[in-house]
Amino acid sequence: MILTHNLGFPRIGARRELKQALESFWRQDIDEQQLQDRAKAIREENWLLQKRIGIDLIPVGDFSLYDHMLNMTTLLGAIPARFDLGQQATPLDAYFAMARGTPNQPAMEMTKWFNTNYHYIVPEFDRQTQFTVASTQLFDEIAEAQALGISPKVVLVGPLTYLFLGKETEANFHRLDLLPHLLSAYRTILARIAALDVQWVQIDEPILALDLEEIWLEKLSEAYSSLQGNGPRLLLTTYFDAVDDHAERLKALAVDGLHIDLCRAPHQLDRFLTDYPVDKILSLGIIDGRNVWRADLSQALKTLTTAQSMLGDRLWVAPSCSLLHCPVDLDLETQLDPEIKSWLAFSVQKLNEITILARGLNQGKAAIQSSLESSAQAKQTRLNSKRIHNPVVQARLKRLTQRDSQRHQPFPQRQLLQQQHFQLPLLPTTTIGSFPQTPEIRKVRAAFRKGQLSHLDYLEAMRAEIREIIKKQEEIGLDVFVHGEAERNDMVEYFGEQLWGYAFTDHGWVQSYGSRCVKPPILYGDIYRPEAMTVNWISYAQSLTHKPVKGMLTGPVTMLMWSFVRDDQPYSETALQLALAIRDEVIDLEQAGIGMIQIDEPAFREGLPLKRSAWDEYLQWAVRAFRIASAGVKDETQIHTHMCYSEFNDILPAIAAMDADVITIETSRSRMELLDAFVRFAYPNEIGPGVYDIHSPRIPDTHEMLMLLEKALQHIQPRQLWVNPDCGLKTRGWPETQAALKKMVHAARILRERL
Ligand code: GLN
Ligand code: ZN
Repeated sequence: MILTHNLGFPRIGARRELKQALESFWRQDIDEQQLQDRAKAIREENWLLQKRIGIDLIPVGDFSLYDHMLNMTTLLGAIPARFDLGQQATPLDAYFAMARGTPNQPAMEMTKWFNTNYHYIVPEFDRQTQFTVASTQLFDEIAEAQALGISPKVVLVGPLTYLFLGKETEANFHRLDLLPHLLSAYRTILARIAALDVQWVQIDEPILALDLEEIWLEKLSEAYSSLQGNGPRLLLTTYFDAVDDHAERLKALAVDGLHIDLCRAPHQLDRFLTDYPVDKILSLGIIDGRNVWRADLSQALKTLTTAQSMLGDRLWVAPSCSLLHCPVDLDLETQLDPEIKSWLAFSVQKLNEITILARGLNQGKAAIQSSLESSAQAKQTRLNSKRIHNPVVQARLKRLTQRDSQRHQPFPQRQLLQQQHFQLPLLPTTTIGSFPQTPEIRKVRAAFRKGQLSHLDYLEAMRAEIREIIKKQEEIGLDVFVHGEAERNDMVEYFGEQLWGYAFTDHGWVQSYGSRCVKPPILYGDIYRPEAMTVNWISYAQSLTHKPVKGMLTGPVTMLMWSFVRDDQPYSETALQLALAIRDEVIDLEQAGIGMIQIDEPAFREGLPLKRSAWDEYLQWAVRAFRIASAGVKDETQIHTHMCYSEFNDILPAIAAMDADVITIETSRSRMELLDAFVRFAYPNEIGPGVYDIHSPRIPDTHEMLMLLEKALQHIQPRQLWVNPDCGLKTRGWPETQAALKKMVHAARILRERL
C-alpha cells in the first residue's frame, strides 16, 4: 500500500479562529485556559478533517500559537537570557514575551520564512545557550491526537535548519558550535516521542534547498548519524526548491526516508529514483502547497506511476510543502465565479487530490476515473476560457520591442530637463505616498463597500480627505506632494480590483505572522486594464496646488509577488502583462498633467529565487517589467520608485538598470549603511534614503536627521539627494506625522543653507 501524508495543515482555522482567540487573549477578554481550549479545538478539527479525507499519516506538532520556530525554541528551552521574566511568569507569558516583546525588552526578530510571505521568530544564540527539553506541549499534543484515534506523524524543525535560521548575538562565536548540545536535546526529544508509540517523525531541513556553505553540509551526515538509534523513524523533509545537488549525500543519510518537492523542482525526481536505497521511503511532494490551482491529476499520476514502478510501497504521496502557505477550504467561497472556482484547490481540496492519487496507485487508474475526467475537464476549460485568454493582450505582448523599455535619453539629459521643468530646491522633501489611515477613512471605505454610502458621497468624502492632506502638506512645507492613498485598503488589492485577470476570495487567508493573515488575490488570467485607475484622484489633488503631486502606482513585480499567480504561463509573461497595464496608467497620468509618477516595488527583492544560479534570469525579467511600465513617458516626466528594506548590495546593478529617475529606500534603521552599497556601485540616479523610521510613533530629532543627511552627502552629490521618511505613513497618527515631517523639512532647509 502506498501511503499518503501531509506536511502541515494551516493553523489559523477556516474562519481565522486562531486570530480571534489570540487577539481576545491579548486584550484580556479571555483567559489562558480559554485560549488553550480554543487552540485545542482548532487542532482537533484539523486532525479529524484530515482523517475524514483519508490521509494516512497526519501531522502533529505543526500547530503553533504564534510560530513553529518559536515553538522549537520553547521546546528546547533556548529562551534568550534577556527575557528575565521572574518567578511569576507562566510559560505562555514567556512565549508571547519572545514573540511580541515586553515593556523592557524588544521582541525577538522576525524574518521571512525562505521565499514565502510567512515570518518566523529568529532564534538568538550565544555561548551560553543551552538546550534541554523544556516544554511538554508537543508530547501533550501527541497524546491529544492519539486520544482521537489519530495516528500521528510528528513534525519537527530539523537541528541544522533550526541553527541556520538563528543568529549569533555574541561576537567571535559560531552557532554551529552549539550543534553537539543541540543534537543531544534532539535525541532526548526523539526518545520521548518514541516512548509515546509514534512511528514517524518528519524532520524538516528546508535549508538544504539553499546554496549552503560546505560547513553546513559537512555536518549533515554527522548530525543524522548521531540521531539514529532506537527513536522513531525519520523522514528528512525538504521543500521550496531542488536538493538534487545533494542527492547522493541524502540517499546515504542515516534516515528512513526523504521528502522532495516536485512542484518547485520537478526535474529532481530522476536523480533520486536512480539507485534509490532499498531501505528508505521516498515521499514525493506532487501537489503544490504554495499555490491555489487544482492539480493535473493524470499528469501527477503518470509521474507517480513511474516512481511506483521503481519504489513499490516505498513511495509516499504528499503536498510539496506544508499547507501553511495555502488557504483552508475552497468550499467556503460562495461568491467566487463558478468557472474560476472550478480551477482552484485550497488545503482541503489538495488533500483530497492526494488521496485520489494514492487510490489510483493502489487500486488502478479505473478506480479514480471520474476524478481524472473532472481534473482533465478543468484543465481543458482553463486552456480555452475567454476569461483567461485575451488575444488583444497577447498580441500586444508580442509586439513589444527594445524601444518600449527605453526612455528617450539617458538619465543625465533627463535630469537636466526635469530640473528646468520642476525648479525644485536642492534636497527636495517628499513622502512615500500614504498618510495616516484614520478610523474615519476606514469607516467611509467600509460603508461604501457595504453599499451604505452612495458613490457620490464616497467620492466627496475622499475628496475632502485629499483637500485636507494637501493643506497639511502646504503647512508642513514639503516640496513634492502626494494625494495620501485614502481610497486604498491595500496596495495590490486596490489595483487588482480594477484589472481583468484578478479574482478575490472571502476566506482565502494565509498566515503572515502570529495573528496576522493576508488574503492574496488570485491572478488567473491575461491582465487587461479597462480604464484609468488613479487619474481622477491624482488630478484632483494636483488641481488644488502648484506643488507637483506624485502619481502613485504599484509596480508589476510587487503585484505579482503578493498574489497567487497563474501557473499556466511563466511568471515573466504575467509580469509583462502587468507592466503593460501599469504603463498605460503612467501614460494616462502624464497626459492628465501629472509630472512625477512613483511606481512602488517593495517586493522586488523578495522575488529573488532561493538559488543564486536563478537570480540573473529573475532580475532580467523583473527589471524589464519595471522598465516597460515606466518608459512610456517624456523625458521631462520624472519616474520614482520605492523599495522598503535593506540589503541592496548584491542586486544594485539591477536596481540601477531599472533606471528610475528617483529611488526612495528605507535606510534610517541601518543608519545609512545601506547607502554604502549605492556609493560603492556609483549609483547614478537620484536617491531618497529614508531619514526616519515610520514603524514607531517616535518623533525624530531634527539633529538626528541632519546627521544622517550629512552622512549621505559625504558620498553623493547634493543634486542626487532627496529627503523623505523610510516608507508610507498609513499606520501612523496625524500628530506625530505632522511633527516629524516638520522637523524633516527643517533639517533639509538647514542643510540647504550650508550648501
Ligand atoms: N506608496 C505606498 C505607501 O506609502 C508604499 C508602501 C510600501 O512600500 N509598502 O504606503
Ligand atoms: Zn515602503
